[in-house]
Amino acid sequence: MRYSVKGLATSSGIAIGPLWIYHPIHISVDQKPIGDAQAEWQRIETALAMAKSQLETLQAKALEMCGTAEAEIFQAHALFLEDPELLGLLKEAILSQKENAEYGVNQVVEHYAQMLLALEGEYFRARATDVRDVGRRILYCLAGIRLEDISLPDQPVIIVSEDLTPSDTVQFDRNKILGFCTVKGGPTSHTAILARSIGVPAVVSAPLPMDKIQNGTIMVLNGSTGEIGITPDEAELEVMRKKQAEGQTQWTKMLEAAQNPAVTYDGKKVEVVANIGSAQDARQAVKNGAEGVGLLRTEFLYLDRQSLPTEDEQVAIYSEIFEVMGDRPVVVRTLDIGGDKSVSYLGIEAEANPFLGWRAIRMISERPEILRDQLRALLRAGINSDLRIMLPMVSNLEEVEMARAIYDEARQSLLNEGKTIAQKVQFGMMIEVPSAALIASHLAELVDFFSIGTNDLTQYTIAIDRTNERVAKLASPFHPAVIALIAHTIRAAHAKGKWVGLCGEMAGDPLGTPLLLGLGLDEFSMAPKSIPAVKQLLRSLNSADCEKIAEHALTLSTTAKVEAFLKESVSNL
Ligand code: PEP
Ligand code: MG
Repeated sequence: MRYSVKGLATSSGIAIGPLWIYHPIHISVDQKPIGDAQAEWQRIETALAMAKSQLETLQAKALEMCGTAEAEIFQAHALFLEDPELLGLLKEAILSQKENAEYGVNQVVEHYAQMLLALEGEYFRARATDVRDVGRRILYCLAGIRLEDISLPDQPVIIVSEDLTPSDTVQFDRNKILGFCTVKGGPTSHTAILARSIGVPAVVSAPLPMDKIQNGTIMVLNGSTGEIGITPDEAELEVMRKKQAEGQTQWTKMLEAAQNPAVTYDGKKVEVVANIGSAQDARQAVKNGAEGVGLLRTEFLYLDRQSLPTEDEQVAIYSEIFEVMGDRPVVVRTLDIGGDKSVSYLGIEAEANPFLGWRAIRMISERPEILRDQLRALLRAGINSDLRIMLPMVSNLEEVEMARAIYDEARQSLLNEGKTIAQKVQFGMMIEVPSAALIASHLAELVDFFSIGTNDLTQYTIAIDRTNERVAKLASPFHPAVIALIAHTIRAAHAKGKWVGLCGEMAGDPLGTPLLLGLGLDEFSMAPKSIPAVKQLLRSLNSADCEKIAEHALTLSTTAKVEAFLKESVSNL
């Protein structure tokens, strides 16, 4: 049977191919009598520990495949497993009510999911999906089933499902997925975010009659419009193949052009570099035309393990990345852990406001050896590199002085040991706390460069927890206060002859490109996948026009006005 439906466009691109219906394995959650409540509780504890360890692995996988924000989804899942209320309710169900583990877990998780659903709205529906995802993981662990054992057919398919959880989405083998299509789910769900970040076309909320479709049926899916065709006729297929080919040609052209430097229409050269978290990202970055790395997040080295990585382990990992990047510059950010990224062996305690707490550079006064070892490893690994070291989360001058002293000590100790070390090293810092932006002219005296982290700068300027999606909508880097801080930082650094990069998400958003160019930004650092489009846009811009755009944007009073003005400016270019 041939028909078409329209869902919500979620992740752009066109997929054509056989569909494959994914039915999650059903675990019976019937109520059953139990013999020994204590033994049943033991099963729960074992399953929770297994689930936690699986989520840590998934977190690392998501960090490698997608990025920090995506990895945080699984960290939130792991935190839910430790929620005292959840554990209390489970204990009550098993030890007091003498329920069997499966029944108890299902009851408790459904209780949470229903509470979220009662609040109504896309955001809470998405969170209910997350909670059920964790619940299903616990049930699978109780049954000894591992999600990663689910295998896809040999040929690539469009995965069709009632709903997909974030765990399903990253668990599938990327090479075997042409697209995702779900009957439920919203465009801001975590599954949608993951689909976008792994670059798979996706449509959600598609009213598909699941009982009438079969595995292997040909489907066309347009992730940019939400249109879906089942058993399309030859004419329809032809149109979609043409569109797919056009999209690919356009991408190939952009990718080819991305290998050249980004020079504006009036001849201003801007550096376009990548944010990476692994050697795999580095390879992708080079393919996509990165002229270097503007942010190497080093957290991945410290996650998913029981003790600090040794200096030698670090040397091996950095060397692999430096080798991929050759003589291109690589900005390595020293450890930025704490906040929302916790690691048990570092002694990070639960805090009421982790983003305002013992995080990143703030750990260093208590644990200087962490920074010292990391700097030693970088100096040893970077002998043939254009190495640039960058401190995260600086909020005052003393932190930079302290880190510099540790850096000098690390250098000296290596020289004393007769080791060869990197010579061409720049020492810089991130501007991601408003206090640092405001004292940028003092800080600029101590460093070679700044890189503005607009993700955190926005969070701290507007007082919005970036992991709280209920308020995250308000967190725009185009808020007049944030762009004023960016402008101030660039001016202050340039006055002292220092260069400025920007490595928050804003750098890869074409809406921000004319503004940042006009403000005089020297280096744009972004996810590898954004590079070709931003380079193309930069080539079409005139820096003098962009200066005027920036000047006007700085006079506007609201985020909405700034965004509307920039949209209009981009469309008039
Ligand atoms: C930022 O805060 O903008 C940034 C790039 O760092 P992260 O997203 O890793 O906190
Ligand atoms: Mg940050």
